[in-house]
Amino acid sequence: MRLSVPRHWRVKGPLYRLEAARCKGCGRIHYPPAAACPYCGSTSLERVRLSSRGVLESYTVVYSVPEGARHASPVVVGLVNLGGVRVVAELTDVEPGEVSTGMSVEAVLRKVREDGEAGFIYYAVKFRPALEAGRGE
Ligand SMILES: [Zn+2]
Repeated sequence: MRLSVPRHWRVKGPLYRLEAARCKGCGRIHYPPAAACPYCGSTSLERVRLSSRGVLESYTVVYSVPEGARHASPVVVGLVNLGGVRVVAELTDVEPGEVSTGMSVEAVLRKVREDGEAGFIYYAVKFRPALEAGRGE
């Protein structure tokens, strides 16, 4: 458990900025960025920034949420295509009945938990329906 905080701080920058890694070996992009390419094992990687807007390709509604997170139940988990890179993330600000494949979504940061003892607040990238569809960045 002692390792969870430093690890979080090490990876949080890339997560916040939707930074992914492009493999110079096989050209594929993975997210979140790992030290080695999950497809070919190459460690020759470069950072790329994903678009914060994407299209929901598919989703699933999860009703059996772990103890401690039941207030958030049910949870909608989506497969979001960000300019060709697929990311699996929770959807937010939307009711399960309002979700449909093909809808435009945008990334937002949401608090996921607090560690009062250590004084840390943890955030995660989630996706919500894009409020102003078509306004690019
Ligand atoms: Zn690779």
